[in-house]
Amino acid sequence: MQGITETDAADALLARVDRRTRRPLEDALRGKSLNDEQAHFLLTLPRPQLPALLASAAAVRAARKGPVVTYSPKVFLPVTNLCLDRCSYCTFRKDPDDPGAWTMLPEDVRACCAHGRELGCSEALMCLGDRPERAYRAYRATLRVLGHADTISYLSACCAIALDEGLLPHTNAGLLTREEMTRLRPLNASLGLMLESSSPRLQRRGGAHANAPDKDPALRLGMMREAGELRIPFTTGILLGIGETTVERIESLRAIAEVHAAFGHIQEIIVQNFRAKPNTRMASEPEPESYEIAATVAVARLMMPDMNLQVPPNLNPYDLRLFLSAGINDWGGISPLTADYVNPEAPWPQLAALGAACTAAGLVLRPRLPTYAEYLQPEFLDAAIRDRIAARHVPQGVHHVDSVA
Ligand code: SF4
Repeated sequence: MQGITETDAADALLARVDRRTRRPLEDALRGKSLNDEQAHFLLTLPRPQLPALLASAAAVRAARKGPVVTYSPKVFLPVTNLCLDRCSYCTFRKDPDDPGAWTMLPEDVRACCAHGRELGCSEALMCLGDRPERAYRAYRATLRVLGHADTISYLSACCAIALDEGLLPHTNAGLLTREEMTRLRPLNASLGLMLESSSPRLQRRGGAHANAPDKDPALRLGMMREAGELRIPFTTGILLGIGETTVERIESLRAIAEVHAAFGHIQEIIVQNFRAKPNTRMASEPEPESYEIAATVAVARLMMPDMNLQVPPNLNPYDLRLFLSAGINDWGGISPLTADYVNPEAPWPQLAALGAACTAAGLVLRPRLPTYAEYLQPEFLDAAIRDRIAARHVPQGVHHVDSVA
């Protein structure tokens, strides 16, 4: 006897909602993507109608992505935490004289990658502040001592070390030029840049990005388009709760969808929630509610049915089932070795807990590479990276590491 399917569950819940809610959800279940008006209407549904939205998104996820939910076993390499920008919510960035300011040395990068490889990691996440050499003479001097003229040169050397140690780099170095991405492409399995929001309003006085020139959405969308022209698999996402409106959330998702429609290279979208942290300008701002995050994920799934959608589990440890029910199919990078340096207060979940949440939802947890399977093709990867990937054995079961930092 066959069990109840996600579509059966969605149909049952659709019978209980009003016609205006039911119609776009029925269309979505038949394969039609939401338009902006429908997306905004569904994003702002009253709470009692939310189960119908989530069930529809889960049914579309089941139809388009199947039962597998992925994660990427990684090491997090915060190459430097110096940054030109000053986002109002950030605790990662430092000035050179601040306690805790650092630039990793090549030997530290190598040791971390080697240890990560021993623990079964595939990804070396190179994460750093935006353009520190433009702001800090001390950092320019550090680069000179390390033998490099600019950050991209040093970053390229770090990526080469990671490859040498058997890991696949995924770099998120903030806003990059076309020339810089061209230099990084042969050394990376994918690149990333959060859009965060397409709203230029957030850069005005008092906004979350008022002191962050590189958070200009036009520049970030421009970089994403150039990455598409360069055929680079690309990770991006939105940040919820930094002062954007619900209309702007939909506009941000649409902006990403349009870039993807033009170039086909957006391999995943992260729906990340703002966390209020002590000693930041946004320390007392409200954090997004779990149901808001879930509704945004569900709407994103119905706007872009085939997209890989991720919510960071360490920022939402009590909502794993909720986000699975909203249509995600990825948990992002999880490290058995290194902290989330951007959110060091939020430990990675144990893989056993992620696996149990997936199993309880009728889904299966699997590791993936920093290049999604759809992009493992010559068009999107340099031959040297393809060779490295071909040489790897990617475990297909739940990862063996069950105790993580
Ligand atoms: S969020 Fe990124 S760009 Fe903004 S200040 Fe922090 S490190 Fe810099």
